[in-house]
Amino acid sequence: MAEAAKAKSGERKLSAPAVSQETQAYWDAAAKGKLLVRKCTSCGQLHHYPRTICPFCFSDKTEWIEASGKGTIYSYSVMRRAPGRSSTCSTVPVVSIKPVNMLSA
Ligand SMILES: [Zn+2]
Repeated sequence: MAEAAKAKSGERKLSAPAVSQETQAYWDAAAKGKLLVRKCTSCGQLHHYPRTICPFCFSDKTEWIEASGKGTIYSYSVMRRAPGRSSTCSTVPVVSIKPVNMLSA
């Protein structure tokens, strides 16, 4: 019944993000309410989105670290649908959890 109501209202179903061996630890931690980022042990830089190769020095010597969860929202964008469509809107903040910047939804 809930599915029929969703279909009637035009609500879109979004598929879950794909989980790979490279991102499994990230999603496992997220399910527990923790935010992990990768840290390169060669150059010391943090990076996000989750990937094994450091985007700064291309080393594969990276490890997971837990972010504090504290950050600063320095910009955001509000997405709205046209009238007559579902009233769903979403806000996409751009968050700086120093020194990693991330786009969240
Ligand atoms: Zn690096």
